[in-house]
Amino acid sequence: MPDNCLFCKIIRGEVPADKLYEDDEVLVFRDIAPQAPVHFLVIPKEHLTGPAAATQENERLMGKLLRIGAETAAKEEIPHFRVVANNGSQAGQTVFHLHVHILGGRYMAWPPG
Ligand code: 5GP
Repeated sequence: MPDNCLFCKIIRGEVPADKLYEDDEVLVFRDIAPQAPVHFLVIPKEHLTGPAAATQENERLMGKLLRIGAETAAKEEIPHFRVVANNGSQAGQTVFHLHVHILGGRYMAWPPG
């Protein structure tokens, strides 16, 4: 787990976060700068830099991120939600620890910017 990774610090409890779910593989917490009435992040505890860093070994974990995201969305009472995973700075990635955004509670325009 890299020392200087922000999300690894959240996993270790060194940086506070509003946690919604946690198990031995996955952590879910609210985004600090929400872009929708409900906006949370689903991350693996294993440090992967982004979606493109996932390998066949991570297939089950990648599916779990979506399942836990959908289950947390149901608990947050957002039946309509958007799933976003940015890969690379030009796609908008700013934290280089794989994370899935779940956003809901407002109308979502398409295409995204
Ligand atoms: P990205 O731009 O990499 O796809 O998403 C990173 C997300 O992490 C952003 O939406 C940003 O608001 C969120 N974020 C950055 N720093 C923190 C933090 O310290 N705590 C929490 N909860 N979210 C953060």
